[in-house]
Amino acid sequence: MSTIAFWDRMIRLPNGRLGKDIMAEAVKDVDNPFTKKLIAAMEAVFGQSPDLSVAMSGRHKFKAHLAAAQRARQYAAWTAHTSKHKANGGGLYASMPRPAFRGFVAKQRNRQHNDTDIGVLMNLRLHSHCLHSLTGAQCTPPTPLGMRTCAACNALGNRAVEDETHFVLNCPVYKGERETMLERLRSIYPKFDDQWNISNDIQKMRILLWSIPDETAPWRPRDGTLSTARTQATGTVLRFLGAAAKRHPTMRNLMFGRAPGA
Ligand SMILES: [Zn+2]
Repeated sequence: MSTIAFWDRMIRLPNGRLGKDIMAEAVKDVDNPFTKKLIAAMEAVFGQSPDLSVAMSGRHKFKAHLAAAQRARQYAAWTAHTSKHKANGGGLYASMPRPAFRGFVAKQRNRQHNDTDIGVLMNLRLHSHCLHSLTGAQCTPPTPLGMRTCAACNALGNRAVEDETHFVLNCPVYKGERETMLERLRSIYPKFDDQWNISNDIQKMRILLWSIPDETAPWRPRDGTLSTARTQATGTVLRFLGAAAKRHPTMRNLMFGRAPGA
């Protein structure tokens, strides 16, 4: 991006200045490495390659264009990632909102939640956790999806693939913490169960990990404002995720560091 800034400064010099003349000559040659770099940068930032021999008119809105170009690149990377993992244990993400630049973290007010618990939520939302569905995909050679099972459930004689949904909604190891969370959510939002009870697992994951923290949940709170209820409900979800991660053998190490002697 400094290439564009340099070109812009030179091209705006008064006529007759040596720097401007050299620049005007340099950009005539499209095979010149500087020109190539400049064109690539222009295309990334402005979506087109303007006439390099004249200054761009008016204000560039350089920062806005740069931010938009960077977001587009990040969204493209996310889309590529989710489609790559869709049939490989990461199917959840295909039906969830894409990462938001003004989402939960940007809305965090007064740092009212625990950072580690937020980390667990973000890792689950961004497919960067260490549940078996993902770690098994990263092995060489990859573990077949059906064999990326939950160790705790295996010990109980139940074979279940350990993915985000298993961890958050279904693993019996965290049943107590999960029930506590759901009770609390029912108390915050009297209509919570109306939607929860008719939701499938994918919809439930969306409710807990996206709708509640992002304040897109539709229910009216029992008391207080929507914003207060959101803070309480988000805190409830985060406490559950943090407590569950703390008891999970690899999530614990990822989020909390290795336990002494472990
Ligand atoms: Zn389990």
